[in-house]
Amino acid sequence: MAKAGRSSEKRMPERDAIVVGAGFTGLSAALELVDAGLDVLLIEARDRVGGKVESETLSDGTRVDTGGQFFCRDMSQLMALIGESGKTPVMTHYDGEMIYRPPVSPQQGFARWQGVDALRDRMIATDPDDPDLARLTVADWVARQDDVSADIRKSFLRLIKGLWCRAPEEVAFTWLASNDRRITNTYSEMEMFLPDTLHALADQLAARLGDRLRLGIAVTGIDHSDTGVTVIAGDQQFSARRLILAVPPVMIRRLAFSPALPERLQKALSAWAPGLSIKLQVSYDKPFWRERGLSGAVMWHEPQGLYACDASRGDYAGLIIFIGGPEAQQWHGRPRKELTAFIREQLTEAFGPEGGNPRDIHVRDWVDDPWSGGAYSDVIIDLDARYAEEIINEGVSPVHFASSELSPSYPGYVEGAIVAGRLAAARVIAATLRGQPEVSD
Ligand SMILES: Cc1cc2nc3c(=O)[nH]c(=O)nc-3n(C[C@H](O)[C@H](O)[C@H](O)COP(=O)(O)OP(=O)(O)OC[C@H]3O[C@@H](n4cnc5c(N)ncnc54)[C@H](O)[C@@H]3O)c2cc1C
Repeated sequence: MAKAGRSSEKRMPERDAIVVGAGFTGLSAALELVDAGLDVLLIEARDRVGGKVESETLSDGTRVDTGGQFFCRDMSQLMALIGESGKTPVMTHYDGEMIYRPPVSPQQGFARWQGVDALRDRMIATDPDDPDLARLTVADWVARQDDVSADIRKSFLRLIKGLWCRAPEEVAFTWLASNDRRITNTYSEMEMFLPDTLHALADQLAARLGDRLRLGIAVTGIDHSDTGVTVIAGDQQFSARRLILAVPPVMIRRLAFSPALPERLQKALSAWAPGLSIKLQVSYDKPFWRERGLSGAVMWHEPQGLYACDASRGDYAGLIIFIGGPEAQQWHGRPRKELTAFIREQLTEAFGPEGGNPRDIHVRDWVDDPWSGGAYSDVIIDLDARYAEEIINEGVSPVHFASSELSPSYPGYVEGAIVAGRLAAARVIAATLRGQPEVSD
């Protein structure tokens, strides 16, 4: 089982299962396994749980989500968890007019929105097996929609940068269509959030694991055979009969597998690129936009990939700004002062001087984050990697891969992470009950 230089003795696995990665996928998987009575260890590289859901405390003492935050009532698994937690969500404030930059009338803005939605429906309705679409990027496909106005097409490309956080010239069209088909919410995905943060929910889930959770352990290698796995983290080793690698595809490929993963699996893993995103929390003394009949939401047509919305609750007043795709890449690594000056400028143009004079701007740059893969999620850029997700989801018994990216519903969202984690756990539980190496669905 083990390579020379690593543990060479064949030992009985120490426990039923190891889960690597304490994001919502790993937490959900580990809790399912524990509830089924399995002996489980959850290992996490960072000194906190939550993965791409994290929080920080601002200088005024307000705890805010600096990663995943929003959800809606269609996201049933997450809603149920929140219900069980005793937490009460607050509704995102959307009353009032949205601002468009550069300015257009509300009617024009609405018409643009509808046009983009219609194009999204057209994308979803494409035939996944159409050979004519097989090797297109999203930009290629959009260029073919020549019955649609140039303005709508440009807005659609902006949406891709803002929501999938990569240039449409790179993203594989058939993958995007498949991904979007699985995002089925009818209510806005930003319908609500938790006043004490979504990250607090991750902490609450982690508390149920007690000493089955180990933080600050960065896994570097996996030795695997039919009878078990050894997880290597520096000079530490942990063994189990089965493993769930609850880390995103971009992070899986950084691990050293022994024996090496089959070639088709390596190819499937290398099809992904990290999403590029920066999230800013802009704090004010009061939500002044509401007094002016504005929702606080700003949709930038230029520069592309920027979006703002109201995230005030209770005594706290603030806007959240997302920067996604090439614009985030461009700002990554540039001095923070330049970025905050740019944001002040954009907010002054949108709201007037009050907008450009916030109390505080907090920046969380997720580009090249050491443990995240992409933000909001990884995306497929290899135009030949049609079956990448299926191949990764098959795993290599007894190693399973699970992450929000690989979820059959709401990929790229916290809801998708919960679904993916629970599915992987169900496979491991079924195999454990059978007492055999597991086979995937
Ligand atoms: C800025 C931002 C905003 C977002 N907004 C929303 C939102 O509003 N709503 C929503 O639903 N979703 C949102 N998302 C997406 C959502 O956060 C993710 O889809 C989801 O949290 C992914 O969960 P996961 O467990 O699959 O992966 P991750 O959260 O990435 O968890 C993987 C875990 O594995 C750990 N890990 C990685 N490598 C190793 C290793 N070698 N050894 C040990 N541990 C390792 C990582 O540290 C991490 O904790 C947002 C994401 C970002 C970044």
